[in-house]
Amino acid sequence: MTAKRNLLGLAWPALTDFFSELGQPEYRAKQLMEWIYQHGVSDFNRMSNFPKELRQKLEETAVVGAGEVIARQVASDGTIKLAIAFAEQRIVECVILRYHHGITLCLSSQVGCKMGCAFCASGMHGFVDNLTTAEIIEQIWWANQELAAQKQRVGHLVYMGMGEPLDNYLQVVNSIRFANNSSTFNIGMRNITLSTSGLVPRIRQLAEEDLSLTLSVSLHAPVDYLRDQIMPINKRYPLAELISAVREYVRSTRRRVTFEYILLAGFNDQPIHADKLASLLAGILANVNVIPYNEVPGLPWQAPTDKQVRLFMRALEQRGITATLRRELGPEIDAACGQLRRRLQGEE
Ligand code: SF4
Repeated sequence: MTAKRNLLGLAWPALTDFFSELGQPEYRAKQLMEWIYQHGVSDFNRMSNFPKELRQKLEETAVVGAGEVIARQVASDGTIKLAIAFAEQRIVECVILRYHHGITLCLSSQVGCKMGCAFCASGMHGFVDNLTTAEIIEQIWWANQELAAQKQRVGHLVYMGMGEPLDNYLQVVNSIRFANNSSTFNIGMRNITLSTSGLVPRIRQLAEEDLSLTLSVSLHAPVDYLRDQIMPINKRYPLAELISAVREYVRSTRRRVTFEYILLAGFNDQPIHADKLASLLAGILANVNVIPYNEVPGLPWQAPTDKQVRLFMRALEQRGITATLRRELGPEIDAACGQLRRRLQGEE
């Protein structure tokens, strides 16, 4: 028996080919996309403008979606974390976040991660696999299913979940273009943020894609000897190279970049570090997101005190750096990326 074709996340040419193999006109592909992406329907029998024979044929040959939600956690502030299992027990997480500007989905781009950042749950057990474009897209679909009862939809995407998005470059860029398409989720480019740990050649490549998304760089330390200790990628692409690629990115895209800076108590949270950070970023069109660390079981890092956070923010402000304090939403759920997956797989 041949496997059923998954139509969720399938690009337009492949979808029209599929319908033409069934002897159907192109407009059926358009109708199917409306059912899937606008109405969130996966059951072919509910696709009422399809003739009965076509619905039957689709039942026999196709499916909408390849994964299933195997766990969900809901926090009191409305944050929802979903664990989705794809074939061969490949489990990924995505998180629905409610901000005043709308609903944001934090997506995973890989199962596990190669980057090995010392403060992160996702990297603790290494890399398993890249996600396909369809698997990235399916996370948005499941999030919309979750929100449908409240008549809400995902309006913003942040590629900040499990994995290094630029290490799965093609699939991630394809998924961004797909999600942005007005026939699918119609998520505006300016509502999409891609976060990287600093893959310099890929940052340069991304600058040439002509996407008006927001690039977010996980910096987390202002000098090489500290960044080397928590982000192995820094040994390959040290800060001077990274910052030069970011400057070029800003020059060619004219887009403001964001730098993420996790405050780890006693490691990178002193005013001297704020001072060095200000010098490093001088003259770049940028915003710094300061994130007090959320402790992860099994990792040695500690959250900074409120006083330390205040001093750090003030030091940045005094040096003219635009900075925002970002508290993690949903702190009572397994909020760090990769934590729910690890719990489900009994690694915690
Ligand atoms: S912080 Fe991001 S890049 Fe680093 S190990 Fe975790 S998932 Fe990978």
